[in-house]
Amino acid sequence: MSAAAVYLDFAATTPIDPRVADAMQSCLSPGGAFANPASIHIAGRASAALVEQARQRLADLLGAEPHCLIWTSGATESDNLAIAGAAGFRAHRGKHLITMLTEHKAVTESFRHLEKSGYDVTWLKPDADGLLAIDELEAQLREDTQLVSVMQVNNETGVIQDIRRIGEVCRARDILFHTDAAQSVGKLPLNLSEMPIDLLSLTAHKFHGPQGIGALYIADRPGCKVLPIMHGGGQERRLRPGSLPVHQIVGAGTAAGIARDEMADDLLHAATLRDRLWRGIQDVPGILCNGSTDHVYPGILNVSVPGVEGESLMLGLEPVCAASGSACNSTSGESSYVLRALGRSDALAQSAIRFSFGRTTTKNDIDVAIERYRWAVDHLRSIAPLHSPGC
Ligand SMILES: *Cc1c(COP(=O)(O)O)cnc(C)c1O
Repeated sequence: MSAAAVYLDFAATTPIDPRVADAMQSCLSPGGAFANPASIHIAGRASAALVEQARQRLADLLGAEPHCLIWTSGATESDNLAIAGAAGFRAHRGKHLITMLTEHKAVTESFRHLEKSGYDVTWLKPDADGLLAIDELEAQLREDTQLVSVMQVNNETGVIQDIRRIGEVCRARDILFHTDAAQSVGKLPLNLSEMPIDLLSLTAHKFHGPQGIGALYIADRPGCKVLPIMHGGGQERRLRPGSLPVHQIVGAGTAAGIARDEMADDLLHAATLRDRLWRGIQDVPGILCNGSTDHVYPGILNVSVPGVEGESLMLGLEPVCAASGSACNSTSGESSYVLRALGRSDALAQSAIRFSFGRTTTKNDIDVAIERYRWAVDHLRSIAPLHSPGC
């Protein structure tokens, strides 16, 4: 990262914790745990012990039994395995599935793929705050509904859904409930031993671990199973074949242990920063906060302003690294589908900037962001007062 960069894009990925990097480095050093954990010789067994220690640490963070966790390459793979795997396992019972319009692409595209192969998907719309109304969900449940997938924390707005209530509604009807918790694991307290959640996706790089390693939680109860989507050696209870990357897994386990110890401090820190950021920009004329202000993870603040375009704002913000909801920022060539599902106009969705921050963010980083944001909005409005969005 450039030395001058002020990194406020934690929802895209978090900086790796130095303690995590050290633990990974010890696996990668000469004499480190490089052996294949599936090998039965002593070197393999040493690797396997590290893999199981990491699984236990992740389980402790989640309040889960370690045998319920399957290592994957990240939340994208976990989402694919959960959704396609559960739909496949339940296909003989019915082909109706439910999700929301505001889910991450790893979820929406998994469902779109199933739609093409004959499944019937109901797409729920959130209210203007980004929240799912429980009666809206209940109204869509059918005899043949097999799976509901709703994320815990939205990656664009930080909005927190009531996954306990959603899970209760599903469990009462023997419907599987999956949640993409990539933005909440390691950040919000979670105790799966007392939550009605069947399947949960996570990824280590959103909580200061390395990229390329994640997990799928699969509850140990009758009727809750997934079919594998890849085929190979019998690793990970035959659900996810492939040689396990020991250094990645050790990194994920270390990050989970740190997250558990420091969660309360991290949360308080994020809340202080969010407050400071919002107080610093709330009087920018026309500014709007996107998503609920009560049910929100404090490490994300997403704001829109009329009359400016996000891509230009992003340039004006430099050296602050944030994310924009504008056309040029996305590969799909449209403004944020999440913000439009909340009822934001195309222009307002295009002007959106997502600031996301956490453990290593300083007050000074926030102050730079406030100064740059105010300057960029003023500047863009002064050079093109009637500027219409588009690139
Ligand atoms: C980051 C993220 C993903 C994808 O995680 P990868 O590890 O990059 O595959 C999925 N869902 C949500 C909500 C995310 O924030």
